[in-house]
Amino acid sequence: PIARIGALAYILRMLDHSSNSPVLPPEIARRRTFAIISHPDAGKTTLTEKFLLYGGAIQMAGQVRAKGEARRTRSDFMQMEKDRGISVSASAMSFDFDGYRFNLVDTPGHSDFSEDTYRTLTAVDAAVMVIDGAKGVESQTQKLFEVCRLRDLPIMTFCNKMDRESRDTFDIIDEIQENLAIDVTPASWPIGVGRDFIGCYDMLNDRLELMDRADRNKVAKTVRLDGLDDPKMAEHVPQDLLAQLREEVEMARELLPPFDRKALLEGTLTPIWFGSAINSFGVKELMDGIGRYGPEPQPQSATPRQISPDETKVSGFVFKVQANMDPKHRDRVAFVRMASGHFKRGMKLTHVRSKKPMAISNPVLFLASDRELAEEAWAGDIMGIPNHGQLRIGDTLTEGEALRVTGIPSFAPELLQTCRAGDPMKAKHLEKALMQFSEEGAAKVFKPMLSSGFIVGVVGQLQFEVLASRIELEYGLPVRFEPSQFTSARWVTGPQAAIDKFVNVNKGHIAEDNDGDVVYLTRLQWDIDRIERDHPELTLNATKEMM
Ligand code: GDP
Repeated sequence: PIARIGALAYILRMLDHSSNSPVLPPEIARRRTFAIISHPDAGKTTLTEKFLLYGGAIQMAGQVRAKGEARRTRSDFMQMEKDRGISVSASAMSFDFDGYRFNLVDTPGHSDFSEDTYRTLTAVDAAVMVIDGAKGVESQTQKLFEVCRLRDLPIMTFCNKMDRESRDTFDIIDEIQENLAIDVTPASWPIGVGRDFIGCYDMLNDRLELMDRADRNKVAKTVRLDGLDDPKMAEHVPQDLLAQLREEVEMARELLPPFDRKALLEGTLTPIWFGSAINSFGVKELMDGIGRYGPEPQPQSATPRQISPDETKVSGFVFKVQANMDPKHRDRVAFVRMASGHFKRGMKLTHVRSKKPMAISNPVLFLASDRELAEEAWAGDIMGIPNHGQLRIGDTLTEGEALRVTGIPSFAPELLQTCRAGDPMKAKHLEKALMQFSEEGAAKVFKPMLSSGFIVGVVGQLQFEVLASRIELEYGLPVRFEPSQFTSARWVTGPQAAIDKFVNVNKGHIAEDNDGDVVYLTRLQWDIDRIERDHPELTLNATKEMM
């Protein structure tokens, strides 16, 4: 029946000439690839668990929780990770719901704004923003939101923990509108606050959703209505709350913009659902909203031309590289977002950067409900490709055409330190280790032209410690990080002759990154300004396209 509904939708869209986006094959059109953005503790993990539960990926989370093992659902995935030797929960999860295929890509949890996060968001078509109903928009949410804004990603909002004392509904909506400069439309409206919270009025479907406090895993009871004056209301909602609800919804309809899918898809309007992830409340409505209103797989910017998801030829790009969980193996998994076509296991694809063919024989697809290696993937899906280091962030895979995906930047690091091997004889060894981390995107590594050693750049101080311990653990190589005389790095671009001349007279400030690109190092912003003034033919870039 799903296939039939898909086919019908396909025909209907073919007939709908008003839309100028491509009509996608049903298998692609049903995909929804998204990430969750939130501040720690808002409920991302809990919401993810409920998504997986409704997606059929986890059986009976209820029993699991009843046993008091709150994190069992997580450890289910840990076992899967062990079986597959890679970190699934840290990367991508796929599940089916109501005819849709959801691909949930995890955003890294650490609090530094990081390239990892940015790049993860290049692999999705939408984001779900989770906020805590008592706390509203918190700092990390705000930062992540701004990253989404850079790409005009459609955002759906889930206001969580409504079972607890929460802020006034209008206040929450106002705060989002003001702090994030985005229009908000209520998809549901909460009834009662804190202990008196009984559920929501579903504004998009004219329904009453009632929360079951006794059973956290029970899905809300739904009462179909015929408007807010429907006499059925009074059977379920106490008199005082009903009067308040009617008044608030009337006000909301007057003051707030109505739901508009086009505005959502353009990233200027976010619908907000109120719920309680831990009580399984509001989650299905949110999933329903992502499916019905969320974006289909979107075109991918690339040179020399854009890639459209409906192209029959397969293409995809690497947005993340992760070392194997087993440090003794050098294997890595490259996470690829499929940009077009229908991939089947065993296909040969061209690795555009090296122009070499690659047989993709053991890809990992993350369909959470089945633990077998999946056999196929469509545009919109995320696929893990185990490899020995050929695949780097920003790489494009195609069926032969020399396309390169764009828009996956590398950012100039904000902290620089010199890295030395404890044993000076091991410099070559160290170089290899550092290159690996650089390709994983865990650090920037610069080789200075004049001095020995390596300059390593990161975004957060903690990353130096993580790197030092990983190099020791994975390469058996003790290293030290020392303060560097430089604090900023800029990629130098311009005509080759001008770059050569510039390099020649600034040798003490020049280094190469691991692609051999020229980097200017300094400790003064003043230097950067001066060079840009004195050398109008050169550009000092704080970001670099990875390709
Ligand atoms: P994360 O840090 O965003 O992944 O948040 P978690 O999902 O781990 O949740 C943080 C805490 O909030 C945990 O103790 C959860 O049990 C709790 N929590 C999550 N959802 C709800 C909810 O709807 N209501 C209440 N009262 N607590 C919740």
